[in-house]
Amino acid sequence: MCDSERGDSDEYGITIFRSPNVDAALQRADIQRGYTVVIWRGRHVNEPYELSDSESGEYWRGVMVVAGALARHYRPLKMNYETLGNTLPHLHTHLLPRYRDNDPRPGLPFPLLPQEVGESGIPEDRLRADAEALRRELGF
Ligand SMILES: [Zn+2]
Repeated sequence: MCDSERGDSDEYGITIFRSPNVDAALQRADIQRGYTVVIWRGRHVNEPYELSDSESGEYWRGVMVVAGALARHYRPLKMNYETLGNTLPHLHTHLLPRYRDNDPRPGLPFPLLPQEVGESGIPEDRLRADAEALRRELGF
């Protein structure tokens, strides 16, 4: 994650938010509508407590701004915030809208698995339309 380019889109997702040290990408994988990953793009850290106060402010502000935009756009029942990093030890947070219908595990943590190359994706036209609406809202 440290070394990857900060492009506007890649094989995993489409960037919908950016601040100097934070990116958020709406994910292509067909896992959950609105599934977005917020990535810390400053110096390498594994844990959020390693951030300075100002870095921490920028990071969590990004997480909250993006979560709010996702909630307004997708109208989930609840937003989930998963800062895990067990398989990829670089600070990032999974934002998972949870819905009343079509939720894989109601009432429990989302069953998130590592993404695999070539797994089925959200149809490109729908993903693009959602990303464009979210970009407008987030000023990207
Ligand atoms: Zn790193």
